[in-house]
Amino acid sequence: MSETPTIGIDLGTTNSAIAHAEAGDIEILPGDTGDRTTPSVVAFDEATEQALVGRQAKKQAVSHPDRTVFAIKRFMGSDEVILLGPRDCAFTPEELAGLILKKLKHDGEAYLQESIDDVVITVPAYFNDRQRQATKHAGAMAGLTVERIISEPTAACLAYGLQWADDATVLVYDLGGGTFDSSLIDITDGLFEVVATNGDTRLGGNDWDALVVEWLEDRIEREYDVSVTDSPQLESRLFDAVKTAKHELSSRRSTTISIPFLEHDEGTTDVEIPIDRQRFDELTSDLLETTIDRVERLFVETGYRPQDIDEILLVGGATRMGQVRRRLTDRFGVTPSKRINPDEAVAIGAAAQAAILDGELEHGGERHPRQNAQHLPSPSDTVVMLDVTPQPFGVVLIDQETYEPYYHVVIERNTPIPARESYVTTTAREYQSEIEIQVYQGDNSRIEENELLDSFELGPLLERPAGEPTIEVTFILDENGILNVHARDVDHDVGDEIEIQPVFGFTDDELTVMQQNLPPIR
Ligand code: AMP
Repeated sequence: MSETPTIGIDLGTTNSAIAHAEAGDIEILPGDTGDRTTPSVVAFDEATEQALVGRQAKKQAVSHPDRTVFAIKRFMGSDEVILLGPRDCAFTPEELAGLILKKLKHDGEAYLQESIDDVVITVPAYFNDRQRQATKHAGAMAGLTVERIISEPTAACLAYGLQWADDATVLVYDLGGGTFDSSLIDITDGLFEVVATNGDTRLGGNDWDALVVEWLEDRIEREYDVSVTDSPQLESRLFDAVKTAKHELSSRRSTTISIPFLEHDEGTTDVEIPIDRQRFDELTSDLLETTIDRVERLFVETGYRPQDIDEILLVGGATRMGQVRRRLTDRFGVTPSKRINPDEAVAIGAAAQAAILDGELEHGGERHPRQNAQHLPSPSDTVVMLDVTPQPFGVVLIDQETYEPYYHVVIERNTPIPARESYVTTTAREYQSEIEIQVYQGDNSRIEENELLDSFELGPLLERPAGEPTIEVTFILDENGILNVHARDVDHDVGDEIEIQPVFGFTDDELTVMQQNLPPIR
């Protein structure tokens, strides 16, 4: 059992949350402002060389959009460098996410009066290998030991199931600010088994805002006969105004988008544009349908039918839009549950997973979040969570007859994790001394449609005629959904066995340096 508090973190696109599990109770830890979530916003103050994170960063965003970053999660796993300020203030996505995690750690420690080390962090189910690795690295930069990475919908389902259901088939629909996930999960006597998962790591509430901002600019130009100035400040104001209207439309039929003193080429004007729910839904219906298509694929892939679903769980702030609840009810014939808080369920589930790892969620324990004071005894002995990989993995092989390269899937989509799969290959040329292994993510038979994760040379091989060597390659996908690849020349002496792991992101030494160089948080 861990010596430090049992902690789960929901590192969200828009907001993040941290939860603590103790003696069967799970509570959300408030930040320094007393709020239960922390905006995932980072700013850098060049003058003091300090970072601002959360509400403070958000507050100064309108006046300093150039030194503020929102939705950093969208860049995780990419080589993007983010400039915060005019000079030399470049950050990697891992560093910026690391700053958000550091802030959550600080605030959590101040609240608990204990130091936080081991954590479970959630990621969108549809995050790929690099994005998961990047999240782990962000944790390391914040000085945290990431015990496990788990999927957001799985975490939400855990939060729900521990409290409300012993046997159920659950559809989780998770629409956050920047990502969408859907998962089908079977709960049976404490066993949480993800059947399939599908999503889009670049689709979220922000895309709804962007479409409405486009429409708004057009309306302003037509109704007020002005040309909207192209500036980051104004853009940020339009997005804020649209977001406010979107939130209002979740609880009323119509509202007005107000932008006082809107700057345009001839001066400023007070702008007021009415919008109703119907218009909002029309403007954004394609986005909603994209999410419904993703859910449909779950049924096609698994053979489950909508009538097999006992419960639909809504997770993520953007599921508050009325269109989501209405469309899911119409399409799948189940009214989504209101039993979980869409903003907190993921962090609570992450803390529950941390408690499972610490052996705290055993039969007889009190396995319910404190937010609901009921004690629900469970008939099961232990709580077990089995997740799947949404991402398939494969390699390029050479056909021995035609010498044409072809794609071979090694780990199929929706395989339960951890997973281990091997295949045997051989050389195509005479006396080949090394063989190249190209590791891809994807299951498209067209090689170029898959994403190359890494490629490495296995060698020196015992030099033999083409087709004679036996090269065994093993893909090991761990519980975090992160892949390692081992390859060996079977006929070599055992002592010569070569083991190779693709390296994504940073080495431990690089991480240590980056952690030390992370700016202090004001
Ligand atoms: P999350 O990443 O889960 O914090 O979700 C943030 C997204 O939820 C943003 O796109 C918000 O605009 C959106 N959101 C939050 N509250 C509401 C609401 N009441 N109505 C519609 N969208 C909301």
